[in-house]
Amino acid sequence: MALEELYREVILDHYRNPRHKGRLPGAHFHAEGQNPSCGDEFSLDLDVEAGEIVQVATQGQGCSISQASGSMMADISKGKTVDQVEEITSKFKLMMDIEEGENPVDPARPGAVLGDLEALQGVRKFPVRIKCADLPWATLADALEEAKAAQ
Ligand code: ZN
Repeated sequence: MALEELYREVILDHYRNPRHKGRLPGAHFHAEGQNPSCGDEFSLDLDVEAGEIVQVATQGQGCSISQASGSMMADISKGKTVDQVEEITSKFKLMMDIEEGENPVDPARPGAVLGDLEALQGVRKFPVRIKCADLPWATLADALEEAKAAQ
């Protein structure tokens, strides 16, 4: 299977079966975001205990890129510390920013750092869709700011 085809399958799988979908009753932190250029919406509930993201729940609607990115974000964030998630966020942004052909992740183990998120790197070719992929991460950053302020 060609890599681009594999990436498309990963994106569609997250879009059709979003991980951690729903609301957290009594969640500590909540953030919402919108991407008006595409009509994407995303909202996020986080429970953070002692600097660790112990529960994540997301809701959203919009294109497959935005919703798949949100599902991947929720999946990779749960069980990680706020610091770890911020590091993943910056690696993800780096991946979406770089020139074609460069690789910000360890080339020896490309799946080790970003996992399924690497499937989104094809979106780089479509600058208008990068906003779609970024939406859940901007929403996450808002919720993490809230969490850090509350510490
Ligand atoms: Zn979109």
